[in-house]
Amino acid sequence: MIPFQCPYCGVGCGLYLDERGRVRGDRSHPANFGDLCKKPLYFPGVLRKGRVPRPLFREDKGSDFREIDWEEAYLILSEKLRVLSPDEVYFYVSGQLLTEDIYVINKFVKGFLKTNNIDANSRLCMATPATAYRMAFGSDGVPCTYEDVDDADVFLFIGSNAAISHPVLFKRVLKRRKGGAFVVTIDPVRTETAEMSDHFIQIRAGTDTVLLNSVLYVLHRRGQVDTEFIERYTEGFEEALKEAEKFPPEVASRVCGVGVEDILLLADLFAEGRKVISFWCQGLNQSLNGVMKNLALINLHLATGRLNGRGCPFSLTGQPNAMGGREVGYLSHGLPGYRDVRNREDREFMERFWGTSGIRGDPGPTITEAVDLILEGRIKLLWVVGTNPAVSLPDLNRVEEALEKVFLVVQDPYFNDTSAFANLILPASQLGEKKGVMTGSDRTLTLCEPFSVPFSESKPDWKIFSELAEVMGFGKAFSYGSPEEIFEEFKKTTEGRICDISNLHYSDLPARWGGRWLYGDLRFPTPSGRARFHPAVFDFPAGESEFVLITGRLKNQWHTMTRTGKSPELLKGEVPPFVLMNPEDCGEIGVEEGDRVRIVSKRGSVERVVRFGNVKRGHIFAPFGYPREFGEPTNLVLTGRVDPFSKEPDLKFEPVKVVKI
Ligand code: SF4
Repeated sequence: MIPFQCPYCGVGCGLYLDERGRVRGDRSHPANFGDLCKKPLYFPGVLRKGRVPRPLFREDKGSDFREIDWEEAYLILSEKLRVLSPDEVYFYVSGQLLTEDIYVINKFVKGFLKTNNIDANSRLCMATPATAYRMAFGSDGVPCTYEDVDDADVFLFIGSNAAISHPVLFKRVLKRRKGGAFVVTIDPVRTETAEMSDHFIQIRAGTDTVLLNSVLYVLHRRGQVDTEFIERYTEGFEEALKEAEKFPPEVASRVCGVGVEDILLLADLFAEGRKVISFWCQGLNQSLNGVMKNLALINLHLATGRLNGRGCPFSLTGQPNAMGGREVGYLSHGLPGYRDVRNREDREFMERFWGTSGIRGDPGPTITEAVDLILEGRIKLLWVVGTNPAVSLPDLNRVEEALEKVFLVVQDPYFNDTSAFANLILPASQLGEKKGVMTGSDRTLTLCEPFSVPFSESKPDWKIFSELAEVMGFGKAFSYGSPEEIFEEFKKTTEGRICDISNLHYSDLPARWGGRWLYGDLRFPTPSGRARFHPAVFDFPAGESEFVLITGRLKNQWHTMTRTGKSPELLKGEVPPFVLMNPEDCGEIGVEEGDRVRIVSKRGSVERVVRFGNVKRGHIFAPFGYPREFGEPTNLVLTGRVDPFSKEPDLKFEPVKVVKI
């Protein structure tokens, strides 16, 4: 029995490989107690399909690649990194890497190259809730845990199709529903989650802040806020309420395209439920107004005292180790142990700890800003680790231009769309071939043991960076003999921090940091010790358009299909690329189910086959992850406007036209 964490969604299910090489759920794991969904079942079958066997290099993108050995790869890289200034290089990493990998990469980049030019694909996913949590509670991290599902009686899913995106968690909620719990889903699409809920609110895309403000308005007008909780444990209620008062239910109903009774029902549930858990995901996060949407939801929990034993605002993590990435501080502003480059004490601590100096105090550009800097000629080397920006970033025509222009290093287990633009491809080992830790949505760390030798000449990501560090003369700081040594080093950076894992060893895992409730004593790591309300401002320049395009996930595929797309079983029903449309909208533009259409925006267009679905009138839904092997990536049509606070791009509201082919 070889244990590991599922490499897909952020539920973080504990799995193991049995003696016959089959993936099974680990009954002793607190995230899933033996349950699992379909996706990881086919992982062993795709472990070795389409892999990069050895380093490949071409100076000129018009030439063919030639095979090189690791020594030459390190020489090429060390030479480039010596010649270029720290501002001219950029690293883009992934929430799918192990904690040991990203700790070493972050140390290499921020501590030794002395640049904060690093970002992770969490920018497309968790940057928004991480920002909102910090603003409201003074720290990042989900306040409660999956255990809280088991005695809650009201569940809200907003901007989350958990039934397919976080299926094991959703099954746990359904179990509660059988016991009488009430489930509400808010989404522009009648998703699988909506189908299995007690009540569905079909909201107009982008308007969640208005809806949630209106619920606060109603709660206050009816005297249903928890005044004692607000006074004892929070600050800023009056300002938040002032903003909410702009949206009486009649107003919100028009803006959001929902019934007044929907708003009143939500208020009733927050007021009367015994324990209320709100789950949300990219529908609130990937938005121009994303942090405000998150804060509007958190405001409701604070206004009704819905924390700990009475509820939780629970942001669902998109990736298997995005929480680990947050612990390690892999976004452009972060440092290990939930530290921040903008904080002098944090920088000084890490400098002493790493035996280095000169950590920069200014956050580096985000990945979308880095694309601009590449096109301006200011970033000259981009190193992509374990992610596929040629499919997943918005405004892909512009991204392709940048990938063509920059010296591109792609470090990945698989060939993917991004490697087609590379100068240097480095074969990375993947989960199942290396040891290390991942942290799921509810702060549970799981040790992943290898069940296979590394493919061909591939190496773990931490090893690639450690060996390069040695070539570059960074001394003993990277002389790790094993991933456990890295974990032992990393965990010391968390001592006394909110994510303290300093007393955990590999042998203790799975284990959770922060206890069942992160703020169990209702003391918050803010200057006043109180949680903070924020006015949730609805600032959303929607504009006029024929349709609004919303993007999202496929049921059995994961992200850009690099791994799951290699499984015929998981591909069934997911190709050819489709768009879900309301039949009445289709009737108006003379389109039938099965017709081919072009979705056209200011930025680009993609071809899709029409499927009928229960999508709000005026909206269309297209899965985002299709690589070029299966058609044109959906993100070709996305503009990439970003939330002003989290800099997370809006992938859920693109004005488009639909043209029949
Ligand atoms: Fe993996 Fe998520 Fe399915 Fe669990 S629910 S098995 S973590 S994809």
